[in-house]
Amino acid sequence: MTVKITLLGTGDTTGTPLVGCTCPVCSEAATSGRGRLRTSLLVEHDGFKLLIDTSPDLRQQLLRVGAPHIDAVLWTHGHYDHFAGFNDFYRVQKYPPGYGAPPEVVAYMQEQFHFIRFAPPTRRNRMSRSRWGGLRITLGGAVNHPPAPTYGLLIEDGDTRIGYTADTNPDIPQRTKNLLDGCDLFFADALFPDGIMHPKHMNYSEAIALAGELHAKDFRLVHLSHKIGWDAPHIGYDGDTFVL
Ligand SMILES: [Zn+2]
Ligand SMILES: [Zn+2]
Ligand SMILES: [Zn+2]
Repeated sequence: MTVKITLLGTGDTTGTPLVGCTCPVCSEAATSGRGRLRTSLLVEHDGFKLLIDTSPDLRQQLLRVGAPHIDAVLWTHGHYDHFAGFNDFYRVQKYPPGYGAPPEVVAYMQEQFHFIRFAPPTRRNRMSRSRWGGLRITLGGAVNHPPAPTYGLLIEDGDTRIGYTADTNPDIPQRTKNLLDGCDLFFADALFPDGIMHPKHMNYSEAIALAGELHAKDFRLVHLSHKIGWDAPHIGYDGDTFVL
């Protein structure tokens, strides 16, 4: 059985082009139609469809991939750019059968979406495979994205390993590094180009260094700001698909 990953979006919290920005990256976006919607991923396995994060662009993202029925949703953390689209989704499909998140993230989303009644989340570690389309999913890799509790995740299908850091600075606990070591495909947050340090995110070379340190066989950088050029090596593009 194969796993298919689609990058529904690869942008940061503002997306690219940034509203009102005339930098070269945003200007090219405006003329070429290129763009980065906010980062979220679609994972498919034997007909099962899982969303990782529900970005504010979710409606558009689902329409782009043919408006599939979603079987499960996972959230990595409670930041607007990672959950705000759930409102649109919920009005179309109600609850997916499976969803999981750190309990504190669900508590926060419940505050924001007082009109939605969230079911108790699945425990974040070692979710039962039957609820996740036969995939083994570990949403237990605490990363470092202060002050929001944030978790990287590992998806396993037999010997195939796919990892995602979620939003994080490079100072990731060793336990999480162990979890994400040796992935066949690895996605890492890379907000800014080299030379710009951010307390909550990795920059371009920090993300590439992490992929090397974790022995990723292949990797793509996501959660990219408008400061990252369109042709930077190793970046993901909206709509990219990977079959493993
Ligand atoms: Zn710009
Ligand atoms: Zn975040
Ligand atoms: Zn984010």
